[in-house]
Amino acid sequence: MKNFAVLLFGALLLSACGPKEPNIADVTRVISTLASDDMRGRQAFAPEAMDAANFIGSEFEAIGLSKLNGDTDFIQDFPLYTVSTASISASINGEEIASDLVAASVSSDSLNWMEGGEVVPTYVGAGDNLMATWRSNRSVPNTLLVVHPDQKEAFDQIAGFLRRPSRSMTVGGGSNMVMVLSAVKTVKTFSVAAKASTTEAMIANVAGMIEGKRTDEIVVFSGHYDHLGVRGGAEPDSIFNGANDDASGTTAVIELARYFKSMGQPERTIYFVAFTAEESGGYGSRHFSELVNPDQIVAMFNIEMIGKPAVEGPNTAWITGFDRSDFGTILQEAVEGTVFNFYADPYPDQNLFYRSDNATLARLGVPAHSISTTPIDVDTDYHQASDEVSTLDLEHMTNAIKAIAAGAATIISGEKTPTRIDPSTVN
Ligand SMILES: [Zn+2]
Repeated sequence: MKNFAVLLFGALLLSACGPKEPNIADVTRVISTLASDDMRGRQAFAPEAMDAANFIGSEFEAIGLSKLNGDTDFIQDFPLYTVSTASISASINGEEIASDLVAASVSSDSLNWMEGGEVVPTYVGAGDNLMATWRSNRSVPNTLLVVHPDQKEAFDQIAGFLRRPSRSMTVGGGSNMVMVLSAVKTVKTFSVAAKASTTEAMIANVAGMIEGKRTDEIVVFSGHYDHLGVRGGAEPDSIFNGANDDASGTTAVIELARYFKSMGQPERTIYFVAFTAEESGGYGSRHFSELVNPDQIVAMFNIEMIGKPAVEGPNTAWITGFDRSDFGTILQEAVEGTVFNFYADPYPDQNLFYRSDNATLARLGVPAHSISTTPIDVDTDYHQASDEVSTLDLEHMTNAIKAIAAGAATIISGEKTPTRIDPSTVN
């Protein structure tokens, strides 16, 4: 009886400690939760995004991940500010400009500009390139553009951008631009008065780690958990579930955490991160990049849309920015002789390297690439309400997660270190 108990205990211990391969049951449970209608499309600023974050955090907890250095929670929340121009008025040479001929993007609480001050008007004549002038002044602190009436069409187009609320990670850190349409050739006197209103919203990444023997060499697995939320005009189904984009990548991050945790302590430290607000400007990865030392991150596996098989066939996945480092080659070598295969992004015209969170880290020199399997050129569910779990091939997705785990083996073991990406080549 006693021996039997010892044996049983030993068997339990073994099953608890042996590697836990990614499996379709876990994959199905996690992606079905993230992409359920209850999550209402996980729009970063909607309350359901926090439900998704809490769910991811509870999975990290159950897996036994550690919090990142200094964190008390898996949820890494941070404020994002939305600034809208509340009022704007302008006059030139004593004459008030009609409100439809003024447009402003204001990031300060209020503006009061007059002749003789710091702001000098920039004239955009009938034959000048207004678009180019606007672009080159976008990050200048204060700009007043006086635009010739012949430019009305371009003026209206840019006014549309300026009048939209702008988002910022800091208060008052942005720039102020005021644009008026006026035939005046010489501005002798002017006044501009504007007020802006700022609202703050807390949004959150979810991050956990397995501390390796080397604490200053970090491998990151990431995916964005936010999606587009609920959009009108798409009745009867107005919920954009984002099953493939990117509940699939988020599920992969969770299942890779489960797998690598079951393997015991790795050589290199592994971070598992679910980013927020990828779809609204990449703010999650920008916040994350400010919390880490990019020089310590040896590789970033950003996983985007692995729910549908690639056109090249089963057990294949492609890597964006393949030639920017030898990350892809290392993955190819690591899976040599297995059923899996990695290759370069087949859609270079789509600029996918720049269209996800990897680019933020690549700008800091990290070999940061996105891995995907989606046939994006023919995928009719991309950014549609129809991006549902029922359109995915979860067996393929489970295999893709296994492929990524196998591909990462030599980087996690410290055997291989990808070459850095040259930040000067990343826009
Ligand atoms: Zn995405």
